[in-house]
Amino acid sequence: MRIVLLGAPGSGKGTQAEFIATQYHLPIISVGEILRKSTKNDTSISKTIKNTMNNGKLISDTIIIKLVKNYISQTTRNPGFILDGFPRTIAQAKTIENKEINVDYIFEFKIPSQIILERIKGRRIDPISGKTYHLNTENYSKNLNKIDLARRIDDSEIIIKKRLEEYKKFTIPLINHFNKTLNTKNFKYYTINGTKTIQDINKKIKNILNKDTKLQNLF
Ligand code: AMP
Repeated sequence: MRIVLLGAPGSGKGTQAEFIATQYHLPIISVGEILRKSTKNDTSISKTIKNTMNNGKLISDTIIIKLVKNYISQTTRNPGFILDGFPRTIAQAKTIENKEINVDYIFEFKIPSQIILERIKGRRIDPISGKTYHLNTENYSKNLNKIDLARRIDDSEIIIKKRLEEYKKFTIPLINHFNKTLNTKNFKYYTINGTKTIQDINKKIKNILNKDTKLQNLF
């Protein structure tokens, strides 16, 4: 089962990716996570990627498409993958439409910008495990003082606004494009209300995926 999670930063894609990965034994390909790891290298391309990310801008399509194809080819022994953070532009979406990258499901997370801003402001990361926590949640308070949580540089208010601008400029047109041509698509497309609780969203996704005949054969 090849799944794409599409939506603005902070719309809950990453959280659901972790649930689905555990529930259906699928690897997560998180483009942002792969890029963040790559910025630790001391090469000129890593520096360019780091600067671009820290400015809230998107990385070039050529780099991203190559990277995603490469990671997908490494997951061929698994019965699929969860792609978190791809596609984000029309050029990236075209690789799915022309079947260079085969996908079965796309879940689009819809959520108002104001809620996104609040969510991202409270987002903290465990620098060792990469796990995400949110201030004021039970899972955060339990771990408070136990681990040194950090804030992503691009989670600052100024940069979040820039990331949302990039979303409006590049990703919304791609979503509109997908919606216009849905009848001719080679994948199933679902819209998810990202303001619902984590559990409700997960239930909705599971209801859809559990109807998958390929999945029934798998278990
Ligand atoms: P994320 O962790 O998904 O919020 O992504 C963090 C940053 O990585 C983004 O703000 C972009 O700079 C970059 N990035 C992630 N996915 C893509 C993509 N599909 N295309 C271009 N840039 C991306």
